[in-house]
Amino acid sequence: MSNSKNPRAYSDGPHRREESVDSVSGKPDPPSDRISTDSFDKWYKERQYRQNILEGTHYFNGPGKITPPRRLSPSKLLQCHRKTVYKQRNAPEESGDPTGIYWFGTEFEEQIIVPFLQEAVVGQREYVANSLWVDYTVETDAGELRIKGATDPVIVTADAEPVLLTEIKTRRSIENTNAPSRRHKAQTHAYLKGLSEKYDRSISEAVILYGSRTTFDIKPFRIEFDPYFWRETVLNWAQNHAEYRLNDELPPAEPESSWECDYCSYSERCGKGQRQFDDIGPKGLLPGFTGYPREKLVEYLEAHDQAKLTPSLAHSHPDLADEYGALDWKCRGCGNSVAWDAIEWDGDTSKPPQCPECVNKGSTVLVDPAPEEQLGDEKDGW
Ligand code: SF4
Ligand SMILES: [Zn+2]
Repeated sequence: MSNSKNPRAYSDGPHRREESVDSVSGKPDPPSDRISTDSFDKWYKERQYRQNILEGTHYFNGPGKITPPRRLSPSKLLQCHRKTVYKQRNAPEESGDPTGIYWFGTEFEEQIIVPFLQEAVVGQREYVANSLWVDYTVETDAGELRIKGATDPVIVTADAEPVLLTEIKTRRSIENTNAPSRRHKAQTHAYLKGLSEKYDRSISEAVILYGSRTTFDIKPFRIEFDPYFWRETVLNWAQNHAEYRLNDELPPAEPESSWECDYCSYSERCGKGQRQFDDIGPKGLLPGFTGYPREKLVEYLEAHDQAKLTPSLAHSHPDLADEYGALDWKCRGCGNSVAWDAIEWDGDTSKPPQCPECVNKGSTVLVDPAPEEQLGDEKDGW
C-alpha cells in the first residue's frame, strides 16, 4: 500500500450544494447547470477528506510535513534520490497526480485480489489481512534509520500471524512483464524485514503480483528474502539517501532507469524538462513558470508557512494571491521591488512586464524572485 491511496485532501468545511437561483426568474437553477467542473472538484475533495477521516488516515488531510531525513517509506526505496528529496521536502509539483491510476490500484486490490485470496488461495484456518503496519529501525553508516509503511494484503493464520505477504501492482499492460522490478523487490524486502521483526520470527516469502488495467490478467512472482540484496542494494540506497538529506545536499540527477524522468513531477526544477532551469533545490517556486496545477500550488502554499505566489503565478491565480499573498516583482536593472499587482500585465511569460523606473533607460524587465529567496528564513526542518 502506498500513500497514494489516501491523497492529501483539503476541506473548506462540509460541502453543501448552495441553492443558486436564476437572477431573472428567481427560480432555482436546473440540475444540468449544477453539473460543472467546479461542483465536481469541490465534491470530490470533500469526499476524499471525509474518506481519510473514515479510514483513520486523517493525517493525510491538510498540509504535508517535511519528512525527517532518517525516515523512509518502503514505497520510495531505490527511486531517484533527487526526486525523493524534492517530494520529502514538499517542493511544488509540476504535474497533477494520476488519480485514476491510484483509484484503479486500490479497487483492483480490494475488489479483485482480496476476494481471490480469500476464496481461491487461503488454506484451512487461514485468513486475509488487508494490510499490516511495519515500523522499525536499521543500523547504517549514516546512523539509525526508521522504515515505516503498510503492506498490501497478507495471508495470516487464525491468530493473525503472517503466512504470506503480497505486493500488488497494476500496469497498463503486463505482456512484457517477465520479472518483478528491483524497486518492487526492494519494497517487498522492507516489509518482509519489518514483519520478521514485528512477529519475532523469519518471514521470508512474498508474492509480487502484477495486474493489467486493460485485460485484468495477472502475473505473480514468488520471491524469497535475499540478505545480500537487502544489505548491498536496499540499505546502501537508504544510507546514501539519508546522507544527502543530512548534508542538505541536492542528489545527482541520476535515476536507476531513465524512464523515471518521463513520469517525474519535478523535471523542470531538476533540469530535464522543456525550460532553462537546472539543479534547482527543493525550495521555492520556479521563476516565470506558470504550469503548476492549481491543487499542487495549494498543497505547496499550505505546506510552507512563509510561502507566497510568484508575481507571474499571482496573475494566473489572483484568488490564491488574495488568500496566501504574493511576492514582489524584482527589476533586473535597478533591483527595485514592485508589487505584483502594481502594473498591468497580460500574463504572457515570454514577455515579462517592464520596470516602471527603468522603462526609459532601455528595456529592463521585471522577474519573479529566485526560488531560494522566496521562503524567507524558513527552517529546513532538521
Ligand atoms: S527528472 Fe529524473 S533525474 Fe530529475 S528528479 Fe525527476 S526522476 Fe530524478
Ligand atoms: Zn528597474
